[in-house]
Amino acid sequence: MSENKINRRDVCKSLLALGGIAIGGLAAKGQTPTPTPTPLPTDNVLQDQRIADAVKRGATMEEIAQLRESIASTPQEALRQLKTGNARFFGGLARRPELSAAERRAQILGQTPFAVILACSDSRVPTEIVFDQGLGTLFITRIAGNVVDLGTTGSIEYAVNHLKTHLVVVMGHEGCGAVKAALLPAADRARETPSIQALLNQIVPSVSKIPKIRDNKAKMREAVIANVRQQVFNIKKYPAIQAAMASNKIGVVGAYYEITSGAVDFFETDEELRVAQTNYNSCNWRSHLA
Ligand SMILES: [Zn+2]
Repeated sequence: MSENKINRRDVCKSLLALGGIAIGGLAAKGQTPTPTPTPLPTDNVLQDQRIADAVKRGATMEEIAQLRESIASTPQEALRQLKTGNARFFGGLARRPELSAAERRAQILGQTPFAVILACSDSRVPTEIVFDQGLGTLFITRIAGNVVDLGTTGSIEYAVNHLKTHLVVVMGHEGCGAVKAALLPAADRARETPSIQALLNQIVPSVSKIPKIRDNKAKMREAVIANVRQQVFNIKKYPAIQAAMASNKIGVVGAYYEITSGAVDFFETDEELRVAQTNYNSCNWRSHLA
């Protein structure tokens, strides 16, 4: 089973669903001349219109805040929103949603993010931009190496227990410096500060399980994904997360952001999220890297 093929197919489906974006995406890879972009569909266009109408008629902040609902009500819908948002970004046609001044003010009354994302602090991984989301739609926790610790877990649990989030995403990325550092010999890591060592120690167990891979790029990808799988495994051990999953309030998935293309691959099934064991088969990854 190829995770990469499945997820790239999902991206392509999202691109096709977005009409002109599919053409733009292929053009970005040099396969088709760049056409004039078609108008972008919006997933929450009706909600936006209702809010715009309310602003025009001079609605109060409370009235505006009540109109701004979560744009996803199930884990599946939340994942679809992220995939289509990334497809817009990936295709070079992000709409970079913004709010009017009245809507921004109304946000003080509450927030309705539909997903919580544990991502790396890396400056090249600005999560809202990657998923083409605006203010108030994503609850983000960023830490080098996207590791699950008490602080990040507390943030995730808050979003799950107190906000209308329906999806938890642990997202690693291409060229992650924290993962790269975790792959270094212990003597090299020991030269870092105690705080950095403590952070790296949360990554080392997962990346130490990967098989020997000669190609450095392939090795890095495998290590990042191994860490994502491990962190997904770790967050799923917490009772609050287990309870929310059992009631189907949330789903928990992994993701890999490829800086060079802008595409996000998702890991959704138990098989795709399986942590490394003795029967781990790295060939699944290496054969689909092209
Ligand atoms: Zn990173």
